[in-house]
Amino acid sequence: MPDIRPTAGSGALVLNATYEPLCVVSVRRAAILVLSAKAVCVADGDGILHSARSALPVPSVVRLTRFVRVPYRTHVGLSRRAIFARDGWRCAYCRGPAETIDHVFPRSRGGRHAWENVVAACARCNHTKGDKTPAELGWRLHALPAAPKGTAWRVLGHRAPDPRWADWLDLREPEAA
Ligand SMILES: [Zn+2]
Repeated sequence: MPDIRPTAGSGALVLNATYEPLCVVSVRRAAILVLSAKAVCVADGDGILHSARSALPVPSVVRLTRFVRVPYRTHVGLSRRAIFARDGWRCAYCRGPAETIDHVFPRSRGGRHAWENVVAACARCNHTKGDKTPAELGWRLHALPAAPKGTAWRVLGHRAPDPRWADWLDLREPEAA
């Protein structure tokens, strides 16, 4: 087992043998995949990892040497951080910095806690809105809320991508509805 001390918060992108992005793992786990010949490094990160017998550039992207069949999660988990990330940390009503989560159709009136009914909102809009609907206030949503889709969301979730992964992940801005 190599003695590997990765920098805090670092991760490596794992690609399938077909170059399809699969997941993000710790740098340590990626290095073990490379050292055990289960993966090859396709993009180096910063620094060198030392083990008792060898030195290895920190892997940033690794590709599995054998194809693995992976059942995909079709849903992105609904979490506060994921909602903020989907909405770009902006209020759905005034586009100011978002600090709260708002249920478009209020929960107090039976609104669901689902991707289609939650948006990031600033404290002021959220407070003003109270238990009214945007229509009752004459407000318009910047975009229709929907569950996030795409490879980057499946692989990263709310995690910030390393710029070195951009070639393998579709990192375009989500389209406004
Ligand atoms: Zn606002």
